[in-house]
Amino acid sequence: MPAHHTGFETALPAVVVGGGPAGLAAALALARSGVETALVASPPAAGAPPDTRTAALFAGSIRLLVNIGLWDAVAGHAAPIAAIRLVDDTGGLLRAPETSFTARDAGLEAFGYNVPNQALVDALWEAVRAEPGLRLVAGSLLVEIKADAERARLTLGDGRQLAARLVVAADGRKSLCRAAAGIATRSWSYDQAALTCTFAHSRPHHAVSTELHRNAGPLTTVPMPGRASSLVRVERPAAAERLKSLPEAAFRDELERRLQGLLGSIGEIGPRAAFPLSGLTAEPFAQSRVALVGEAGHVIPPIGAQGLNLGLRDAATIAEIAAAAVARGDDPGGPQALDAYARARRIDVTSRVWTVDVLNRSLISGLLPVHMVRGAGIAALNLLGPLRRAVVREGLEPSGPVPALMRDDFRAPGGAAARPGDRSGDRSGDRPGDRSGDRAGDRPAASGPA
Ligand SMILES: Cc1cc2nc3c(=O)[nH]c(=O)nc-3n(C[C@H](O)[C@H](O)[C@H](O)COP(=O)(O)OP(=O)(O)OC[C@H]3O[C@@H](n4cnc5c(N)ncnc54)[C@H](O)[C@@H]3O)c2cc1C
Repeated sequence: MPAHHTGFETALPAVVVGGGPAGLAAALALARSGVETALVASPPAAGAPPDTRTAALFAGSIRLLVNIGLWDAVAGHAAPIAAIRLVDDTGGLLRAPETSFTARDAGLEAFGYNVPNQALVDALWEAVRAEPGLRLVAGSLLVEIKADAERARLTLGDGRQLAARLVVAADGRKSLCRAAAGIATRSWSYDQAALTCTFAHSRPHHAVSTELHRNAGPLTTVPMPGRASSLVRVERPAAAERLKSLPEAAFRDELERRLQGLLGSIGEIGPRAAFPLSGLTAEPFAQSRVALVGEAGHVIPPIGAQGLNLGLRDAATIAEIAAAAVARGDDPGGPQALDAYARARRIDVTSRVWTVDVLNRSLISGLLPVHMVRGAGIAALNLLGPLRRAVVREGLEPSGPVPALMRDDFRAPGGAAARPGDRSGDRSGDRPGDRSGDRAGDRPAASGPA
């Protein structure tokens, strides 16, 4: 649909609000799908503390990064995850057996890649600045939205105004766009916090991510390039704070003890941060010209690495639906397009919020029957091949339709199908699932976990 002149201002087909990873990816996805888009976001201020977290991104998310031309910039910072090991460290009477899922169980070379947030956001910003179909509106926050049958009018804190048919709300868990659209939320908090850091270790991880299931919550190590891993350790809030402020040597000793020699001796520890755990769902997922993307639509504890994977699926889905509406000459922010988006995202989002909630509560529950059911569930996964494969696949990607931008055969309007490594021409080592790497610790396990 061509830009529509309003007198207020030219109404663009789409505006994205929010410069986190979900918003930046949504803006690029829309622009690469041929939808003229503005992005209301500001790059991190110089000297702002870096985001030291990493995100385990599964195959669909990696394909999105390939298809929007970002993978080359991120691949060198990322490490493949070829296997996931679950260890019951609850110390209870009914401990579940140790269970490993290999990517080969799901017919893949790697489940996905562990990507540092900062490298991802830096690469997204560079691509946003270079994208001709994207107008960056930086320097001020959105303060008001008013929607009518024709358009949404957006006002920024410095008085600038713009209008768009579709508002993609990627403005985080306290989303102003969501509130302006009258979308209801349900939110809750857990008596837990996640402590994160990166750390070096003497033994190779062999591309295996390990989850120790403990009563306070899981302790997860996720491979990084070389002999290094990232840590997400869920604890009661007071314990997380205590661990965060421990002197480095004491923290290192404690972590080494916890990991029971799994990764050998622990070396340098990166900056530590603690994140209180909470949950949020929104209903409906789109309304009054506003479509929710990322944490504006769902907040989920960092267990099972689902949050940003969901946010990227939101981004790819809204881009596809908006591009189809624009191509038909329809309104990309009208009820038909918004209903299609809400329907497409409902099951994926609600099932994951629910599953992560149940898994987390089963760990922290003191009730024996709950532990029995959890232990029996994990034992069944160990035994039953098809069930195990189904669980692995469903954990990685929803069983429904995959958005075009997350498929291998994606073609940008008027362009050729994107190929991993296209931008650099000949770097086959950049291909997801193809990074054989040259260090033992980097290698997707060819013969399963060590
Ligand atoms: C410890 C931890 C580990 C995690 N690990 C994983 C993992 O392994 N895999 C995974 O998939 N996910 C993981 N996640 C989840 C992932 O980090 C989040 O899903 C993701 O960061 C959310 O991104 P977002 O863009 O939706 O929100 P945000 O990053 O919160 O971005 C929102 C943006 O909107 C901007 N904004 C807000 N209001 C306005 C306004 N009025 N005007 C303009 N801009 C505005 C903000 O400044 C911000 O830039 C983890 C989370 C935690 C806490």
